[in-house]
Amino acid sequence: MNRQKLVAELQQNAEKKWDLIVIGGGATGLGIALDAVTRGYKTLLLEQSDFAKGTSSRSTKLVHGGVRYLAQGDILLVTEALHERGRMLKNAPHLTSNQEFVVPAYRLWDIILYTVGLKFYDLLAGKLSLGKSYFINSSETIRRLPLLKKLGLKGGIVYHDGQFDDSRMAISLARTCTDNGGTVLNYFRVNGLLKNELGKIKGVRAKDLETETGFNIYANLVINATGVFADEIHRMDNPLSKPTIRPSQGVHVVINKSFHQSESAIMIPKTDDGRVLFAIPWYDKVVIGTTDTPLDLISLEPKALDEEIEFILKTAGKYLIKPPSRADILSVFAGLRPLAANPANPSSTKEISRRHKITLSKSGLLSIIGGKWTSYRRMAEETIDRGIKTGKLEKRRCVTRNFRLCQDNTISKTDRLKIYGNQSIEIEKMIEQQPELGNLLDSGLPYTKAEIIWICRNEMPRTLDDVLARRTRALLLDVKASVRIAPEVADIMMQELDLSYSWKEEQLRDYNKLVLNYL
Ligand SMILES: Cc1cc2nc3c(=O)[nH]c(=O)nc-3n(C[C@H](O)[C@H](O)[C@H](O)COP(=O)(O)OP(=O)(O)OC[C@H]3O[C@@H](n4cnc5c(N)ncnc54)[C@H](O)[C@@H]3O)c2cc1C
Repeated sequence: MNRQKLVAELQQNAEKKWDLIVIGGGATGLGIALDAVTRGYKTLLLEQSDFAKGTSSRSTKLVHGGVRYLAQGDILLVTEALHERGRMLKNAPHLTSNQEFVVPAYRLWDIILYTVGLKFYDLLAGKLSLGKSYFINSSETIRRLPLLKKLGLKGGIVYHDGQFDDSRMAISLARTCTDNGGTVLNYFRVNGLLKNELGKIKGVRAKDLETETGFNIYANLVINATGVFADEIHRMDNPLSKPTIRPSQGVHVVINKSFHQSESAIMIPKTDDGRVLFAIPWYDKVVIGTTDTPLDLISLEPKALDEEIEFILKTAGKYLIKPPSRADILSVFAGLRPLAANPANPSSTKEISRRHKITLSKSGLLSIIGGKWTSYRRMAEETIDRGIKTGKLEKRRCVTRNFRLCQDNTISKTDRLKIYGNQSIEIEKMIEQQPELGNLLDSGLPYTKAEIIWICRNEMPRTLDDVLARRTRALLLDVKASVRIAPEVADIMMQELDLSYSWKEEQLRDYNKLVLNYL
C-alpha cells in the first residue's frame, strides 16, 4: 500500500474509465471493493479520511449473529450473520478468535429462557457453529467469572461468538484489495457526482486532501458506501432526496483487567432499559458497552454523552464485585450506527432492523446502508450482484466466500504479531536484526518500535491518529499511554514518511486535542 504511487497512477491515467468507484472506506466500502477486485473489475475506492475512521473502528468487536436480534424475532438476519461469522473466522484467522461468553442468571426463568434461546442460536449456525451452548451451575459460573457478584446467582449459560479487531480487519481488506490489483485511497474526498446529458452518473468529482488537487474520475458504476454519511451523497445526486439514515450512537468504556479477571466475556441480556451489555476481554483490557442513543449530529468523531458513560458504569457495577468508576476508565469511544430509517417511527432506534438496504437511484447511484461488520462480505456480494443486474458490470461470479485475507499460511512465531497476517514475519526479521526495535514503546501497551516502522512502510498511515487509533489500537486501549508514546511514534513517522519537524509538531498538537474525546 503506497499512497504516492497510487495517486501518481491515478493522475497518469486520468482518462481511464474504471468499472466501478466505491465511495467510503469502512467495512461496507472495503468489503465491496474486495468483492469487485476479486471478480476482476477495475476498482477504485475513495475514503475522505482514514480507512475505518468512521463507525468501522468503533464497534463492540464482535463477529456475531446477534443474540439480541434473535430475541426480536429477526431469524433471517441472525442466520445470515451466523453463517458470515463462521466464514469471517475462517477467512481472517489472524484477526478473529472464538470467544466464550457467559450469561449470568439470577432467576430460574432466565435459565430456561436463555438456555433455550442460545440452543436455538447454535442450531441456526449449522455447520459453522463455534461451539455448543450449555448451562453451568453457580459455582462453575464463579470459577469462570471470579469477580461476578454471587448474591442470588442461580447459574450461567455458556455460548460462543467471534471476536475481532475491527480497524485492523479494515486495513487487511484494503491491503488484500491492493494485492489483487485494486486502488484504495485514503484522504481522498468525493465532492460531487458527474452526470451525462441524460442525467445518468458517469463518475465522481474528488479531491486529494493532501495536495488539494481536484480530479474528475469516470466509471461505469458508482457505489455509495458511506455509512452515516450516505444522505450527503444522496443529496449530491438529488438535492431533494429524503433522509434514509437514522444514526444511533453506541459508547464503550475500556478498563483494566483487575475488574474482570477472566478469559470469558460477560453478556448481560437485559439492562434496566432493555438493552444488551457486554464486558469483553480485548488485548489484555476489558471493553464494556454499548448504548443505543438516537442522534441527529453526524460526525467522524462522535463524543460519548455523560449519561451514556454513567449508564455503562452503573450497569457494570451491578454485576461486578469491584464496580468501575470514572477514574478507572482508560478510554471511552463512541460510534454511530448507520441504521436504515424507519419512517413509521423515526425516534426509536432499538427496534430498527440491523439489516442492510441496497437502493438504486434514477441516475444510477447504487447505495448500501445499514448492516453490520459481521455481514460485510455478504453485503458486498449482494451489492455487486445488484450492480451486475443494472447492466453496468459484466456478469462475473463472487469468489469471496472462501477467500483468505492476507493469504499464505506463514505463521508468526510471536502470537502478538499475528494481527499483521503473513507479513508479521517481516516484523520478526526486523527485531532479529535489531533487537532493540522489539522493546515495548510503553509498558501499558502491546506495541513495539518495529511495528510502527513496518506500519509506516506498508499500511499507508498519514497522521498520528491513523497509527495510534487504527493501525495500532493504543488510543482505544489506554488514552494516557497513547499520549506518552505519541512523540516517539511521530518521530518514527517523520523519518519513515519523510515529513518535516513542523508536521510532527502539528500532529502532536492535533492528537492532544483529539484525545480529549476519549478521556
Ligand atoms: C457502537 C457500535 C457497535 C457495533 N458493534 C458491532 C459488532 O460488535 N459487530 C458487528 O458486526 N457490527 C457492529 N456494529 C456495526 C458496524 O460497526 C457497522 O455496521 C459498520 O462498521 C458500518 O460500516 P460502514 O462502512 O457502512 O460505515 P463507516 O465505517 O462509517 O464508513 C463510511 C466511510 O465513508 C466515508 N465517507 C463519507 N463521506 C465520504 C465522501 N464524500 N468521500 C469519501 N468518503 C466518504 C467516511 O469517512 C467513512 O469512513 C457496531 C456499530 C456501532 C455504532
